Amino acid sequence: MENTPATLLENTHQEIARACKASKRSPDDVTLIAVSKTHPADRIAPLIDAGQRVFGENRVQEAQSKWPQLLEQHEGIELHAIGQLQSNKAEEAVALFDCIHALDRMSLVKALAKAMDKAGKQVPCFIQVNIGAEEQKGGCAAADLPSLIASARDADIPLAGLMCLPPATIEPAPFFAHLAKLADDNGLDGLSMGMSGDYPIAVQLGATHVRVGTALFGARG
Ligand SMILES: *Cc1c(COP(=O)(O)O)cnc(C)c1O
Repeated sequence: MENTPATLLENTHQEIARACKASKRSPDDVTLIAVSKTHPADRIAPLIDAGQRVFGENRVQEAQSKWPQLLEQHEGIELHAIGQLQSNKAEEAVALFDCIHALDRMSLVKALAKAMDKAGKQVPCFIQVNIGAEEQKGGCAAADLPSLIASARDADIPLAGLMCLPPATIEPAPFFAHLAKLADDNGLDGLSMGMSGDYPIAVQLGATHVRVGTALFGARG
């Protein structure tokens, strides 16, 4: 069978449904974010036509160059910022995105709060946790999470939950379970975790948002 955008989307929904069934969850509680980074608008449009409405991008500038026109042409699209965010891009990010998955430090809490205030637009944010304590990765240390959450709440930033990108080469399940525990400990419901290679296990461990690129669009160039 040919892998059209519609069949890839259908396969992904079926995988999510299977994982939900295995863990006695409802598929309605899992949002599929189609990660369209690096893919041009003419690769994205067929997925929209197949029914997908939630998309993720990791660079503000790239998103600004391809999404305004797509948003004009299609109803009901939700755009999520999934990549590391520089504080000086906060205003642009707040203007374009409906959700931000990369809140990971105090300076960004300040910049986003200021940008939301100025724009009169509240954008829900996931706090990114550096769950594998990897030096090269973004995300706040698990130990710093309570104070970062408190600061975000003080600044009236709506918190959607926690997000992580586990270490690339080892079994991700313990990291997903740890993130779920941290969210629970801190009174947060949302869990943005799981990518093409591991989203079924992330769903079994409580993911509410999975960020899937390659499985929907094929390999990035
Ligand atoms: C690129 C990216 C993804 C999607 O990765 P795939 O393996 O292509 O599904 C998910 N999350 C983040 C933060 C990314 O940068």
